[in-house]
Amino acid sequence: MPDKPIPISAPTPGPEPSRPSWESYFMEITQLVAKRSTCTRRSVGAIIVKDKRILSTGYNGAPSGVSHCLDIGCLREHLNIASGERHELCRGIHAEQNAIIQAALHGVSIKGAALFCTNLPCSICAKMLINAGIKKIVYLSGYADRMSLDLLEEAGVSVVQSDFGNEEDRV
Ligand SMILES: [Zn+2]
Ligand SMILES: [Zn+2]
Repeated sequence: MPDKPIPISAPTPGPEPSRPSWESYFMEITQLVAKRSTCTRRSVGAIIVKDKRILSTGYNGAPSGVSHCLDIGCLREHLNIASGERHELCRGIHAEQNAIIQAALHGVSIKGAALFCTNLPCSICAKMLINAGIKKIVYLSGYADRMSLDLLEEAGVSVVQSDFGNEEDRV
């Protein structure tokens, strides 16, 4: 008797799928990226996504080879500067900027891509993201920078606050 051919699909369905939605998937990764932050004030993560694939990641921290605020303290912290002001006094690079830089470093075009980030980008990052060709921003928490939203809206970038963390999104 010849062996029966092996069926190409299982005769009974598998268990109920518990896969996260794409938004949950990217947001959870963004939060993981933020954990690498070396900022003493806020851990921010950003990833750049196109066609459901991650092109680049970034978190906030000092440039490569330079001491981090975590190690030597942060001047903005020391001077008690309010959130969203005097970014130049911190040696750290913002997560969104690091994500753009990482793409440039490896020669990856992010034109037409989406940015997932833990916080709404500041106005400096917003300007860079506009010119890098980012078309959509999905963020978790707001940021004290009204100019940023105005710039993004004027440039036609779609900005969405994610409801990741709500039970319904955790499929
Ligand atoms: Zn700092
Ligand atoms: Zn920024």
